[in-house]
Amino acid sequence: MNTQNDPQAVVIGAGPAGSYTALQLAKRGIKTVVYEEHNQIGLPSHCAGHISIRSLKTLGLYPLEGIVENTFCAANFYSPQGTKFTLHLNCPVTAVLNRTYFDQYLAKQAQNAGAEFILNSRVQSLLIQRGTVTGLKVKTNDTNIHLNTPIVVDTEGVSSRLLRQTGLTPLKTSGLVYAIETEMNNVENVEEHAVEVYFGRNYAPGFYGWIIPKPDGTAKVGLATNQGDPRNYLRRLMIKHPVASKQLSKAKILSANYHAISLGGPIPQACSNGFLAVGDCASQVKPTTGGGVIFSLTAAKEAANTASQALTMGDVSVETLITYQKRCTELFSFDFKTMLQLRHFLDSLSDEKLDEMLRVCSKLGVDKALSGVTEIDFQGKMLLSVATKPAMIAALVYFGLLYLHHS
Ligand SMILES: Cc1cc2nc3c(=O)[nH]c(=O)nc-3n(C[C@H](O)[C@H](O)[C@H](O)COP(=O)(O)OP(=O)(O)OC[C@H]3O[C@@H](n4cnc5c(N)ncnc54)[C@H](O)[C@@H]3O)c2cc1C
Repeated sequence: MNTQNDPQAVVIGAGPAGSYTALQLAKRGIKTVVYEEHNQIGLPSHCAGHISIRSLKTLGLYPLEGIVENTFCAANFYSPQGTKFTLHLNCPVTAVLNRTYFDQYLAKQAQNAGAEFILNSRVQSLLIQRGTVTGLKVKTNDTNIHLNTPIVVDTEGVSSRLLRQTGLTPLKTSGLVYAIETEMNNVENVEEHAVEVYFGRNYAPGFYGWIIPKPDGTAKVGLATNQGDPRNYLRRLMIKHPVASKQLSKAKILSANYHAISLGGPIPQACSNGFLAVGDCASQVKPTTGGGVIFSLTAAKEAANTASQALTMGDVSVETLITYQKRCTELFSFDFKTMLQLRHFLDSLSDEKLDEMLRVCSKLGVDKALSGVTEIDFQGKMLLSVATKPAMIAALVYFGLLYLHHS
């Protein structure tokens, strides 16, 4: 039984998905409480914070002064043999954010709109009665409390521990890659406004490595892999890769964090009675690049919309909350399907084929065909928009043959 003092919605976790959901709920006048297990928002930070400028603008979240660390209009892709394919875009398309500041900014916006944040408080479990989530058990400052609420929004991130309690199908563990994200100084031979990307089974099986330079001479350097320890792969990249080894020969690791990324595509259903899942815990992450911030924020807005309607109707059953699922399917489904195919394709390539692919991309002028691209999140729609250019047709035929040959 809910009382007047109980919140109308509780959000689990103050990452971008949680704070943005709380902001959207509070803006709609819904009494919202966010529980975050850490005692500071945005720390520890595990994310590179490399985000599309266009998507941030669409969400009304740009220019983010003091949070944007650099912007990029180029990317250099390397094969394990060092073959380089460069993509120059007509204008800055991505920005790298200080993720700690970004998370704190979103939380502040939510607080200003009326949401309450309670830190140092870990949600231990969901309270479920006759198949409906009715509240949660929280350990806050060493005290266990039980709290009732009509709607729980789970944004606990990739662990997705609580989501499992609802009986929803959790993210696929086979789709997880394990990442190391570092800050380094003394990184050499990189362009200030270009991101470096390293492919190859020898260096980053199942994903890639990256250098994201910052104007102060430091860089975010990381790598993820679907096997072994990412630290060992990063060491190998730094010592053996024909290009990265030169760029990183004098680099010093200033800090390092470890975290998983879910590349398996969204979970089949992200809502049940009294319950919505948003962000990494629902695997709303790009299977190609591991970018999850924009999809989390976009889904957060939809979740808040649906929750608000459900509260107005006094019906938080899955029959009402399914609107959220339908909206996510409408918005993301085509892009996720395309990106899953692309991930499958990239994973199927040997190091030799990767090398050949980057050579072919340069020869066919794929860089010119893509130079006007401003959309990097919704990659299915982006590919459709350039698919009629001759260089892209040739490249797609070539990739198609490669794919058929290797799948
Ligand atoms: C190495 C790496 C690099 C990445 N780089 C990029 C990138 O460049 N661009 C991009 O878009 N994405 C990137 N991502 C992905 C991005 O970090 C995530 O998609 C994004 O953080 C998802 O936000 P979220 O709010 O769903 O989860 P999170 O950011 O993980 O937030 C979850 C929050 O919930 C809290 N929490 C968890 N359990 C509980 C509990 N039981 N009780 C209370 N609080 C709890 C956690 O402390 C945390 O604060 C990267 C990920 C990794 C690992």
